[in-house]
Amino acid sequence: MDIYLDHNATTPVRPEAAAAVAEALAQNGNASSVHRHGRLARRTIDDARESVAALVDAPAANLVFTSGGTEANNQALRGVPGALLVSAVEHDSVLGARDDANTVAVDGDGVLDLARLGEELARRDGPGLVSVMLANNETGVLQPGVEIAAIAHEHDWLVHCDAVQAAGKIEVSFRDLGVDLMSVSAHKLGGPQGVGALVVRDGLDLAPLMRGGGQERRRRAGTENRAGITGFGVAAAMARQGLDAMQGLASLRDEMEARILAAVPEAVLHGAGVERMPNTSCIGLPSKTAETQVIALDLAGVAVSAGSACSSGKVTPSHVLRAMGLDDNAAQNAIRVSLGWNSSAEDVDRFVDAWTAMANGSAKDESPRRSVA
Ligand code: PLP
Repeated sequence: MDIYLDHNATTPVRPEAAAAVAEALAQNGNASSVHRHGRLARRTIDDARESVAALVDAPAANLVFTSGGTEANNQALRGVPGALLVSAVEHDSVLGARDDANTVAVDGDGVLDLARLGEELARRDGPGLVSVMLANNETGVLQPGVEIAAIAHEHDWLVHCDAVQAAGKIEVSFRDLGVDLMSVSAHKLGGPQGVGALVVRDGLDLAPLMRGGGQERRRRAGTENRAGITGFGVAAAMARQGLDAMQGLASLRDEMEARILAAVPEAVLHGAGVERMPNTSCIGLPSKTAETQVIALDLAGVAVSAGSACSSGKVTPSHVLRAMGLDDNAAQNAIRVSLGWNSSAEDVDRFVDAWTAMANGSAKDESPRRSVA
């Protein structure tokens, strides 16, 4: 049986969410219609809104459904005027959303340098927007979201938090973070691909990216993805119930890392010294490129990733690991192992066996490039 340990790329859809999608697809009705079909569609969308909002502790009315995390990030960054400051380890959908982004450095563990953030804010003309993710997709490293929001607000800047990787894996509270905008995505927590949401703080004037319709309270034009949103709602409710189990994955992950280090002492764990998500491990192996490792593991029936899996065709070393001070070689030799809602101790055993055989084996580097599928 194949082992899937690439949950940060996308999680298998929870069967209950898939069933809800199928059921919604079988129903007719546009949520903007006044008749009963329309009213039913509206109700299912609003039920899902409550469920997703509960997962991230936000008022349901503040949640705008989007086509995913990328759109939510673009909407947040392009919907407000002024300058933009982002961390150097953001996802490409943040780094690429605007041409005028300025980056703030992280330390060797991948954590935002708060003093640098304060300095950058003090020397720039504001107000503007600070965008920092809650959990990194490649390393799982968590950022001090509350502190970041407080520093930005001291300077009257707005704050956006990309919580795409964190939501459904750890407790996330829009209210407690105190941010103005927050992005989430269904397919990272057991929902379907192609649906996400942006949480928008009360009273924030956001210029919509999608215009030409009154949906989502004029914040996102276009007929709602009723089936996807329904699946998102079911997955969010299940992810909320499963947060304790997700936390329990940390011991499985830690044991996996200990076994890897015992088997191959030159292996390196990136970001392991600081707070990180319970499901993610970023493992460097100096002798082999990530691409070679991923291919060898795939042949052994184990699916993991070479860094971020969100932007295909990129052949450069991981920008996240580079920002953490690694050289090009080290930034090209790390794989990401990410567990999820259906991962088991047996999966981890199989991975450790396959990884140890790969690390000790003679698989040669066929390519010096790092594949980011
Ligand atoms: N932000 C982060 C941190 C991600 O990891 C991803 C996807 O991997 C995204 C945003 C983009 O989300 P989506 O795939 O829903 O567009």
